Amino acid sequence: MSLDDHLRSRLHARREAGLLRVLRPLEDVGPTVRHEGRDFLNFSSNDYLGLAAEPALRDALREATAAGAPASRLIVGHLKAHEEVEAALAALVARPASLLFSSGYAANVGTVPALVGPEDLILSDELNHASLIDGCRLSRAKVRIFPHADLEALERLLRDRPAAGRVLVVTDAVFSMDGDRAPLRALAELCQTHGAWLYVDEAHTVGVYGPAGAGLCAELGVEPDVLVGTLGKAFGVAGAFVAGSSALREWLLNVARSFVYSTAYPAALLPVLRAAIRQVRAADDRRAQLHAHATRLRTGLRALGFESPGDSPIVPWILGSNEAALTTSAKLADEGILGLAIRPPTVPVGTARLRLTPMATHTSSHLDQVLEAARRIER
Ligand SMILES: *Cc1c(COP(=O)(O)O)cnc(C)c1O
Repeated sequence: MSLDDHLRSRLHARREAGLLRVLRPLEDVGPTVRHEGRDFLNFSSNDYLGLAAEPALRDALREATAAGAPASRLIVGHLKAHEEVEAALAALVARPASLLFSSGYAANVGTVPALVGPEDLILSDELNHASLIDGCRLSRAKVRIFPHADLEALERLLRDRPAAGRVLVVTDAVFSMDGDRAPLRALAELCQTHGAWLYVDEAHTVGVYGPAGAGLCAELGVEPDVLVGTLGKAFGVAGAFVAGSSALREWLLNVARSFVYSTAYPAALLPVLRAAIRQVRAADDRRAQLHAHATRLRTGLRALGFESPGDSPIVPWILGSNEAALTTSAKLADEGILGLAIRPPTVPVGTARLRLTPMATHTSSHLDQVLEAARRIER
């Protein structure tokens, strides 16, 4: 069989199972977007603060001295502007140092294997993001998955830890598909008690929680050994950073393969990131608006009898079957609302859902429209 025939038959099987993924070319970004000549309310982005379309960020592109710095950071791709942005990001999350990566995916698959190896143990929450799962696998450490946010199960695993080797506890801060928060204080205490290191992925929380958007760890007074923040979500740009001690930064720039063997973060985006950091720091009003919108959306869905767990700006609307999720998403689209279906393997089988995310720049009438549409949808 030719490769194409093989792939076509596999694609067909996916389509039959309601699992085919497709790309939708949009004409712009923001709280409303154009698609195929029609305007939609956008309730599916991670642009929580509405910064991606912020004119101050676009204008900052003009300060760029070059498009790229086409070499790895360790060769001739390292600019002073990289260091300035890294210092500003470290200051934002109140850690001593940080290192930029081209994406959150690259940060996690590079960082976890840089810290632990075959002699070591990783304890990983069952709902962690795919990039953490892949980072754990690449590390070749022994990985034990603990039930979601289950502190007792985690404590048992920590008690049973082998005497030799290091232990890394890995968790999302807010879980990307369930929208709930990790019990970070308790996790930090357990790690402290059992001599384990704590790795927190703040992809959905830096910019969204904490003083000046410093994140959930900062809000709770937790100092993880490793903090990952992404710059393509609340910051509206692209990339990610790993924050921690200056030893952590130095170690990662020596051994994290997705840093060492990859071209430097684009020069053109460094002034944009600087502007985004300023915007995030000053965005208390946007954060308050975002959280108010999320509460209203979640409370409204629950009042209609729908299941909407969590308590963050990620508002899941659990529908169960793939078909139910796709049908509901299509009904919303008919009403001019983008609320995309999330299906296995991104979420467990039988828990397909819409993942709705309000933005600070939505208006209260945008929220009315979504809840009105939900009311009209058959339960
Ligand atoms: C989105 C996400 C990532 C990946 O970040 P990108 O910059 O999009 O590659 C990593 N971890 C979590 C928890 C995420 O939600």
